[in-house]
Amino acid sequence: MSDCLFCGIADGKIKANLVYQDETVLAFKDIAPKAPVHILIIPRKHIVSVLDIDASDGVLIGQIFQVAGRLAREQGIVEGGFRVVANSGADAGQSVFHLHFHLLGGRQMSWPPG
Ligand code: 5GP
Ligand code: ZN
Repeated sequence: MSDCLFCGIADGKIKANLVYQDETVLAFKDIAPKAPVHILIIPRKHIVSVLDIDASDGVLIGQIFQVAGRLAREQGIVEGGFRVVANSGADAGQSVFHLHFHLLGGRQMSWPPG
């Protein structure tokens, strides 16, 4: 998708502070962090949202969660606890329409989320 921000980051056309990358998954720091650790984990493949994940994406989604665990360990947020969140649609506040998982940690979080 040529007009997609996160495809642009995956292609290296738009700068981001990368913390992990492989052939299928990319992770980078959120530009407006909502916690001391706030990393976005995305598939390189353009998938719009959770609603657009299909059966053939199963391995990919598993890889994304493995990366989430690895980064949580690397970032030192395992002991305190952390969240992995995918906002989907307007009520959840999704603003970028390329599937991404927020890895958040480093502070006390409330439940239910706002
Ligand atoms: P959403 O609101 O769709 O769940 O999450 C989109 C996230 O992307 C937001 O937390 C926002 O701060 C982040 N974001 C938006 N534009 C950029 C950008 O250009 N670079 C980076 N690193 N993050 C961005
Ligand atoms: Zn995209």
